Amino acid sequence: MLKIAATLYMLGIIIPAFSQSNKMDFEQYDPVSTLVVPEHKLTKAKYPFIDVHNHQWNMGNGSLDGLIKDMDSLNLQVMVNLSGGNGNRLKQMIDNVNTQYPKRFIVFANINFDNVGAPGWTEKAVQQLEADVRNGANGLKIFKNLGFSVNDVSGKRVTIDDPRLDAIWEKCGQLKIPVLIHTADPAPFWQPMDEHNERWLELKTHPGRKRSDTDPAPWQTLINEQHNMFKKHPNTTFIAAHFGWYANDLAKLDSLLTALPNVVVEFGAVIAELGRQPRAAKAFFTKYQDRILFGKDSWVPSEYATYFRVLETEDEYFPYHKKYHAFWRMYGMGLPDDILKKVYYKNALRIVPGIDKSQFPED
Ligand SMILES: [Zn+2]
Repeated sequence: MLKIAATLYMLGIIIPAFSQSNKMDFEQYDPVSTLVVPEHKLTKAKYPFIDVHNHQWNMGNGSLDGLIKDMDSLNLQVMVNLSGGNGNRLKQMIDNVNTQYPKRFIVFANINFDNVGAPGWTEKAVQQLEADVRNGANGLKIFKNLGFSVNDVSGKRVTIDDPRLDAIWEKCGQLKIPVLIHTADPAPFWQPMDEHNERWLELKTHPGRKRSDTDPAPWQTLINEQHNMFKKHPNTTFIAAHFGWYANDLAKLDSLLTALPNVVVEFGAVIAELGRQPRAAKAFFTKYQDRILFGKDSWVPSEYATYFRVLETEDEYFPYHKKYHAFWRMYGMGLPDDILKKVYYKNALRIVPGIDKSQFPED
């Protein structure tokens, strides 16, 4: 009898009944918490805020009324659109903003990395940036393609600290505009995709995000290139996007910020890292209260609630909005008002030029 059952099992015939009672997919498991504690679900920030990490690809024409309505509902006073591009596209975007809501949007320029290494490439890139700033750009955004996929004319990967880019970073310092830079991705994308990987679900649902030491380079190499570039340009302010991918190692980020006074950070897409270590995160926010900016990245208005709740409340064991970023629950930091104001708007007002201060509380 046992032998027959074992054979049927091997053939896959009696697996369903057995597995339903003993095994379940990780993706399927979604227990309802029985914990009863006070809940403060926030749909609006306590203070008007500046989101320094947003992407709007089609701001060049059309009405911005719908966007403003969503922003108002969150208390999002100023949105920094990092996807300004350059040249005519950027100018058209800024013109459209200025005729409708000049105080509500800031636009960052982007570099065209085609043909790095061609004669005169650096000079042209610097000239374009100067023209973009004259046209109203208030910062420069560097996407992760630098380090990942930008190659020079000979087909070689352009490193983030490539000397051919130095003049661009120096120019940003002279123009007093910040450089917001996203380098690499979460380190687990480089690690084996197995049961030990915290980002297993994200790699399963987004297979294109998997990286390796040769695709295109080890994680640490890319991060070191970024830090080296920060070090080479002490007169330029850099905003390291996504906490520089060290939100899960705040001691490391602490030593980095101590060594590099020209660097500040924003927490787009890493709020779940802070929410799982509320005590350490609060200590970090207290120490670096002048060097943390509010960033979100993907424009999904309903998701901002998670950010407000981690920053403002002392709620316990509440969920994040995407299981593939965080299968764990989170805790609020309960930041005091003076730190909240810095993170929500004061730090951005100091670092990003061109924002009308009259839209924010005076003290
Ligand atoms: Zn982004």
